[in-house]
Amino acid sequence: MALINEHFLKLSDKYLFADIAKKVNAYKVAHPKSQVISLGIGDVTQPLAPAVIEAMHKAVDDMATLDRFHGYGPERGYLWLREAIVKNDFLPRGVHIDTSEIFINDGAKSDTGNIGEMVRWDNSMAVTDPIYPVYVDSNVMNGRAGILGADGKWSNVTYLSCNEENHFTPPLPEHRVDMIYLCYPNNPTGMVITKEELRKWVNYALRNDAIIFYDAAYHAYIRDEHIPHSIYEIKGARKCAIEFHSYSKTAGFTGIRCGYTVIPKELSATTLDGSKRYPLQPFWDRRQCTKFNGASYISQRAAEAIYTPEGKEQVKATIDYYMNNARMIREALTKAGLTVYGGENAPYLWVKTPRGLSSWKFFEELLYGTQVVCTPGVGFGPSGEGFVRLTAFGRREDCEEALSRIRKWMG
Ligand SMILES: *Cc1c(COP(=O)(O)O)cnc(C)c1O
Repeated sequence: MALINEHFLKLSDKYLFADIAKKVNAYKVAHPKSQVISLGIGDVTQPLAPAVIEAMHKAVDDMATLDRFHGYGPERGYLWLREAIVKNDFLPRGVHIDTSEIFINDGAKSDTGNIGEMVRWDNSMAVTDPIYPVYVDSNVMNGRAGILGADGKWSNVTYLSCNEENHFTPPLPEHRVDMIYLCYPNNPTGMVITKEELRKWVNYALRNDAIIFYDAAYHAYIRDEHIPHSIYEIKGARKCAIEFHSYSKTAGFTGIRCGYTVIPKELSATTLDGSKRYPLQPFWDRRQCTKFNGASYISQRAAEAIYTPEGKEQVKATIDYYMNNARMIREALTKAGLTVYGGENAPYLWVKTPRGLSSWKFFEELLYGTQVVCTPGVGFGPSGEGFVRLTAFGRREDCEEALSRIRKWMG
């Protein structure tokens, strides 16, 4: 008799974006002539950079020849890409990462979801709240999260509330935890963390022998030069942090699939009886060799092209386009009397609902009043109640039209 992993039953089959789609569809059926615009999408809309396209065409041609055909690649990823990463993403910030500490993947979602395999299921964990749902749901699947309470919180998860009072800066946990998930710039709040604040986390992890899982998927959107792009800019982080990168938001790779994870050689954890420490980099290497056969040669050539002079310029132009959208949204909504956070170093805006409305109530009022779709903040965690998330990933014309409708509607 095959037995199921019963932890899966604890997961809600209500998926936030499916709920939104259902409500939007119901609206469209009742109002067939309406032009609905989404400012809720978490996917990029602009085409790939020409340098990336050129590299991909070339890689396809390679595959058509006997000499330059590529079958299975190295499990950690091609060395030329790992070298480009070390040279471009870390060295300019004074961070030394060895190519053997970089693992190319098919995007950050898989690795952020799978990384917990390397540590025991009964480690305690903390997440910022609100949060990207992958960190919690992947830990529900392996039993680490415990059971879901009526307050929408999992019993074995410590929630670090990020709210207006603490200016969306997570407080250190009141009791010790083993694993901490941080994401900066943050999805969904669009807020960033300063070096001083991040240093507190690194020191906490070192003091408590904890591991920080640092998601840097949006680092390319940082404008303020004082904001850290990598946790390794903080002294001591090599001993306590794993960092995730993705080309999805950096270069529009959501449909290409490529990213990387950094596991420094100094990062280690202990056996249950505390008698021995083991470095985790060899664990992940072993795990990847067993379960992962690499990102495609074509995707990796595409990623390499981002680091060429033309590639860098083109990718930056697209990020500037999104960040201009962000600025427009921020200014228009603020002028309309709404309180808006984020959007200055991230493509997300975290908007406080007016009149103390719930996230879902404001979602509906906005949809029915302006035919604009947002994402209810409560879908990202209990502390997201009373907020909605807007994204800057839309087309310029759509943003402009949506903002003009909102301005009129807010009077
Ligand atoms: C979009 C996103 C990612 C990237 O996921 P990919 O699998 O690389 O496409 C990672 N983390 C967060 C918080 C994201 O929003």
